[in-house]
Amino acid sequence: MATIRSITAREVLDSRGNPTVEAELQTDDGTFRSMVPSGASAGVHEALELRDGGSRYMGKGVKKAVGNVNKIIAPRLIGMEISDQRSVDKVMIELDGTENKSRLGANAILPVSMCVCRAGAASEGLWLYEYIRAMGGFGDSVLPVPQLNIINGGRHAGQENDIQEHMIMPVGVKNFAEAIQMASETYHSLKSLLKERFGARGTLIGDEGGFVPPIDNVRDRLELVIKAIEKAGYSTREIKFALDPASSEFFYDGVYRIGEQEMQSGEMVDFYTDLVSSYPIISLEDGMAEDDWDGWIELTKKLGSKIQIVGDDLLVTNTKRIQRAIDLRAANSVLIKPNQIGTISETLDAIKMAYKAGWTAVVSHRSGETEDSFIADLVVGATTGQSKFGAPARSDRNAKYNRLLRIEEHLGTRSKYGGTI
Ligand code: PEP
Ligand code: MG
Repeated sequence: MATIRSITAREVLDSRGNPTVEAELQTDDGTFRSMVPSGASAGVHEALELRDGGSRYMGKGVKKAVGNVNKIIAPRLIGMEISDQRSVDKVMIELDGTENKSRLGANAILPVSMCVCRAGAASEGLWLYEYIRAMGGFGDSVLPVPQLNIINGGRHAGQENDIQEHMIMPVGVKNFAEAIQMASETYHSLKSLLKERFGARGTLIGDEGGFVPPIDNVRDRLELVIKAIEKAGYSTREIKFALDPASSEFFYDGVYRIGEQEMQSGEMVDFYTDLVSSYPIISLEDGMAEDDWDGWIELTKKLGSKIQIVGDDLLVTNTKRIQRAIDLRAANSVLIKPNQIGTISETLDAIKMAYKAGWTAVVSHRSGETEDSFIADLVVGATTGQSKFGAPARSDRNAKYNRLLRIEEHLGTRSKYGGTI
């Protein structure tokens, strides 16, 4: 059994070129590094991401969070047993002492929690996904059906009052490698259609590697994706759609505004109902705003028996909010982002709570990512069966897909693809 010998942190850059925290932890088994991602359309109920303010890096420096790892967290954790993830996480939660990790910052706590998990896996000679599976007591490992965001909108594309994510989900395949091939071929077919129609400007990309074409209307965007699917030689029988409007971003005093269109909650639900009847959409995330609980209840009542209704900003990987949504029947699926809550133990608790209620769970990246591929192991180990890691392009996204390809190979004949949708 290994103990923690040292922990240090440093400021590094994320995929948007903003500073983020990398933690480094040593045990007798080696050195383990982890980096935290960062959201743009972040929910107001998320754990706090501590930024320095001031003029350095336009206020986005993370020296305070780095200092909190080096000066407050490290001295307290050194000597602790690496295999006891929950106890280590509990010590950090108590050291912070706030409801939303605002003293130390979730961006100080999470990378240490991830390092502890990685070191725990090494101490038992396991791959990270195997260790997470054993630690959480989950069933057989499952490679996820990916939700790939191939048209970026909203905050990830510099637009206001816009649908944020237009994703494809390859469901009709045997394994993850085939799913990625299908997604990549569709992505490149979309690129050539965009180039034909708009020239090179039509193929510019957003924060998550998807294209940002000059097309305002969601229906026109989805029609083009259908053409791309067909051009790649597939059909909407095997490739379905998922949407994340990220509607908290276009909710103003009780009114939803998409482009010039203004809608009350009920009209927003009707808008989605029409879309779902026109297109092969099987998953809808953050259709309603983060505190529009009545809207969520109505949406789930209307569409919850047909499609997956995923709470992201609504639930923020927080068991208190997930329990409330379960009780109110306000969703049927949870998006899982470890940095919304700040520790690996609490992330696994959120997933287990969803399973217990018969919900699905989708493990997700952030729009600001790094080369860290922890979430690829998390999705397989926690057996959620669905991931949301962006387009199959740019290495901040492909670091996760490439890790999943390796894991699929490692599992060999034991490998299973796809979850419950
Ligand atoms: C999302 O809204 O699901 C998302 C990944 O965006 P961000 O990381 O900007 O919150
Ligand atoms: Mg979202």
